[in-house]
Amino acid sequence: MTDVTDLMRAKEALIYELINEGVLKREDIIEAFRKVPREDFVLADYIDHAYDNYPLPIGEGQTISQPLTVAFMTEALDPKKGQKILEVGAGSGYQAAILAEIIGKKGKIITAERIQKLADMARANLNKAGYSNAEVVVYDGSTGYEKEAPYDRIIVTASAPSVPNSLVKQLKKGGKLVITLLDEMFLIEKDDKVKKTFLGYYVFVPLIGKEGHSR
Ligand code: SAH
Repeated sequence: MTDVTDLMRAKEALIYELINEGVLKREDIIEAFRKVPREDFVLADYIDHAYDNYPLPIGEGQTISQPLTVAFMTEALDPKKGQKILEVGAGSGYQAAILAEIIGKKGKIITAERIQKLADMARANLNKAGYSNAEVVVYDGSTGYEKEAPYDRIIVTASAPSVPNSLVKQLKKGGKLVITLLDEMFLIEKDDKVKKTFLGYYVFVPLIGKEGHSR
């Protein structure tokens, strides 16, 4: 049996660790980590490990990212209240929930997932957690999601062979995109020019699609 007090203790310990390591910085991002119940985004078998700093399997050969990675990417993305965000790779919906919490009710996040079963799971998880500002679409997000473009921010939680042109196109001027190419994470900033900054090494499952890997 999972003890709620143990989970809450594990959650605080994880947040403390991420702050101490200098990964979690912004007050509203720390608050989002406090509010979003990660135990509701992992498979039942892994609830006791919901606040371990590891990725966990979510079925279909995919994973919910390591909390450290979610924290690092969220800080790098620099999300603001009221923004419109596209996530590529909904998976469990956890990263989308963190962003939905930060952007608030006036913001909107669209999260694309290519595997129907995972999209259904992400949608159920986000509904249960009460994030009506998050919408899950079954779509090849390697081409972005033109229907809701342009976006203030785009986050890709799978590893791409190169930066998909569609994503840069669907980003607003002044917008930011965080994406991992093979195992190198980059921040792409779009202004009159497109600026690319290396952020560090991270491992992700492959981005599969028209502007991603072929399989
Ligand atoms: N952000 C997720 C972790 C995602 S794992 C979380 O918080 O749990 C990466 C996900 O990207 C996988 O579910 C995989 O199916 C999905 N994916 C891979 N290529 C994709 C594509 N072209 N479009 C949409 N989703 C894709």
